[in-house]
Amino acid sequence: MTHGPSVNSSVDPRTEAVGIIGAGLAGLITAHTLLQDGFTDVVVLTRDRTVGGVWAKERVYPGLRVTSLSGELTFSSLEMPLPKGAYGDISGDDMRAYLECFAEKFLAGRIRFATEVRRIERGEAGNGWRVHVEDKNTDRAETLAFARIVLCSGGCSVPAIPVKLSPEAAKAANFAGPVLHSMDLQSKLDELHSVVTPDSGFVVVIGGGKSAQDAATYFANAGIHVTIVFEAVDCCVASWLPLPDFVRKSRFMSVMSPNIELNTRLERFLHTSWLGSKFTLGFWKLLPVITNSALGIPRNSPLRNARSALWTTSHNDERVPEMKRFYHLVKKGKISLAAPAHMERYGDDGKSVVLSDGRVLQADVVVLATGYASSWGTIFDEKTREELGIHRHPPTSKAKYQWNYKTLANPPPAHPDAEQQASSIFRGLVPAKNIERRDFAINGAIGTTNNGMTCEVSAHWISSYFLRDKMRIPGSVDVAYEETERDAAWMRRRYPDTLLRLNESSVTSLPYFTWPQAIDQLLEDMELRSMRTGGNCLTWAFKVVDPKVISTLKEERDAKRKKDVAANN
Ligand SMILES: Cc1cc2nc3c(=O)[nH]c(=O)nc-3n(C[C@H](O)[C@H](O)[C@H](O)COP(=O)(O)OP(=O)(O)OC[C@H]3O[C@@H](n4cnc5c(N)ncnc54)[C@H](O)[C@@H]3O)c2cc1C
Repeated sequence: MTHGPSVNSSVDPRTEAVGIIGAGLAGLITAHTLLQDGFTDVVVLTRDRTVGGVWAKERVYPGLRVTSLSGELTFSSLEMPLPKGAYGDISGDDMRAYLECFAEKFLAGRIRFATEVRRIERGEAGNGWRVHVEDKNTDRAETLAFARIVLCSGGCSVPAIPVKLSPEAAKAANFAGPVLHSMDLQSKLDELHSVVTPDSGFVVVIGGGKSAQDAATYFANAGIHVTIVFEAVDCCVASWLPLPDFVRKSRFMSVMSPNIELNTRLERFLHTSWLGSKFTLGFWKLLPVITNSALGIPRNSPLRNARSALWTTSHNDERVPEMKRFYHLVKKGKISLAAPAHMERYGDDGKSVVLSDGRVLQADVVVLATGYASSWGTIFDEKTREELGIHRHPPTSKAKYQWNYKTLANPPPAHPDAEQQASSIFRGLVPAKNIERRDFAINGAIGTTNNGMTCEVSAHWISSYFLRDKMRIPGSVDVAYEETERDAAWMRRRYPDTLLRLNESSVTSLPYFTWPQAIDQLLEDMELRSMRTGGNCLTWAFKVVDPKVISTLKEERDAKRKKDVAANN
């Protein structure tokens, strides 16, 4: 590692324009951090009409519940009022209100709404960026110029719909009712309620993930007949009583989960020793046993066909059983299951769908909870994607990476194509190929269970990187690229198939439960103190990690910058 070179160091980056694409969690905290650091010309562009991205007013449907715990989707500069929900649950509305408040307080006048980014390309002579946008109110096209770009367009902002299930396929089959993706549930509620009521009509939801379960739960609670069709469900975690914060909000899960580096004696014990690995694997095996028992899922239920808790990044955290939730509604027969199966096509009678096992389900409304495609897909042309090195690609390094952890000894079978997936985004933030130019970064694509803190520390890292602060990051493309090849090999080893399943804009790096270690790495890159929650050798893994521990990052970076400049003179 060397300290990164200065690029065009005669110009103060603070005076140059920064374009941030996206007004979700990642875009908002990135804009705030850059403004705090003295960047004067910061513009956030979003196609939406309100802030929040996934949590925007136009997307939050009734009953949307946040899987994360309080503190995991918030920022250190603004506390979220204690959630009113049972067991500290945060609703989608709580999140919407929080992000609206954050934007109003810190970003007034900085956000351009209803602005669709159509294309991003290099500026003249390869300097800066040209961003082609379209105003969604007037259809007027415009080209904006920025010296730097931070891409915060999110992994859940573009629906992925199989062609044979699409609204076009429905139309071709003369399907009579509405067909919509789960992300449009809120905006189409009125239309749906005019088609299905508690007295008449059938809703079919396609998919087994959280969005599918949320949609089915919504209709069941409205008294409407609903069937959910899936091959497998997300891994669900629940217990009879709420788990204490020293388990749920501490580093506990992060030490129980194998990480790319085992930095502490405890982690090495848990993952590489015979005794430690027995304990660790026992813990992961116990999770579904407790969950099935707490939720009362019968042995023969297709809801047991879930991905393994240890090996997946698709978790649905139910906390404790509750009356109006998915699992309870299934038990009470208010949600019907058609599983394992997937939808093959629309029926010939215009009011049914045909499943892979030949079953025909009556349907007046079809909700496609079929996941998301990359939000980067259409905004870069092939040349720019290639030059930036932003795209997924087959691995190229000849290096043999080895993680001889006993806890990784028996991975589930992976699709052979999964071995061909590599991403070369250094730390999940900067394309390795572009690392020396310091004019492009990505925030919000590191896959973790604590998006708030991860996005906030990432925003500081990106700002320091733009400011050419002294950092411990590779000084050359080759070194950065090699690091990303190792990280990609780790992702394939740790979560087989996941890079195939999740789109490139949702995952550039995957410290899923191990976000505390990932945050420590980013802090160390900035030459700042890591392992901030303290504790002794017996308690450190159980100390609650609160966003407050990163609330002074700006001041710490300012002080360090001053010291580094003084040392250079
Ligand atoms: C239903 C649902 C529930 C979820 N629940 C949780 C949870 O409980 N916990 C958790 O940690 N995560 C959850 N997630 C994941 C969620 O995506 C992240 O937590 C986080 O909110 C993502 O923030 P983001 O800023 O990266 O992206 P987003 O919130 O998706 O924001 C992306 C922004 O980019 C804009 N954009 C994209 N493309 C363009 C373009 N071409 N032009 C202009 N604007 C563009 C969008 O309009 C939006 O403003 C959930 C996701 C979904 C869909």
